Amino acid sequence: MYNKIMDTLILFDLEETVIESFEQPFFIMPNIRKIKNFLSHDEFRDARFGVMSWAIWNWSRTESEVFDGISIALQEELDIHSNRFDGMFTLSMDQWVSILWKTCGVKVDRDELPHIFNKEDFLFKIRKFFAEHKIARVVLIDDAVEHNLTITSPSVTIEFRNIEDM
Ligand SMILES: [Mg+2]
Repeated sequence: MYNKIMDTLILFDLEETVIESFEQPFFIMPNIRKIKNFLSHDEFRDARFGVMSWAIWNWSRTESEVFDGISIALQEELDIHSNRFDGMFTLSMDQWVSILWKTCGVKVDRDELPHIFNKEDFLFKIRKFFAEHKIARVVLIDDAVEHNLTITSPSVTIEFRNIEDM
């Protein structure tokens, strides 16, 4: 089904999925083990990584520094030896909001975003963005999504994994 494994994107939520919080950026080790197990399947061997965390507003210096530390340590924990985070999909809230505007002409303030869309709705709205970048399959790992929900459209399949249920 997914014969082009290059075209898979794993999006990570951060707080309460990978780390406790941005203020206390410690790994949640049981979750890291679940993620490692999940990504060990061959279909994810060449998947690209991105970030969809509402804790990253605009890549302030602090946000960038904390994220750099997380991404390096996470890939070490996952035994990944080259950087798989793709700048095209490793985005702040400001950037996700801008993609929403460019993709479907919907203008939302960054602060309002979490109140207007849950991540399931949001990713569906911007599905053309992924298709434009040759992504055929998106998997979001998050602590607040409907586990195993799959949204299918002609060009992209968007899947959700709730870390609590993995
Ligand atoms: Mg979270």
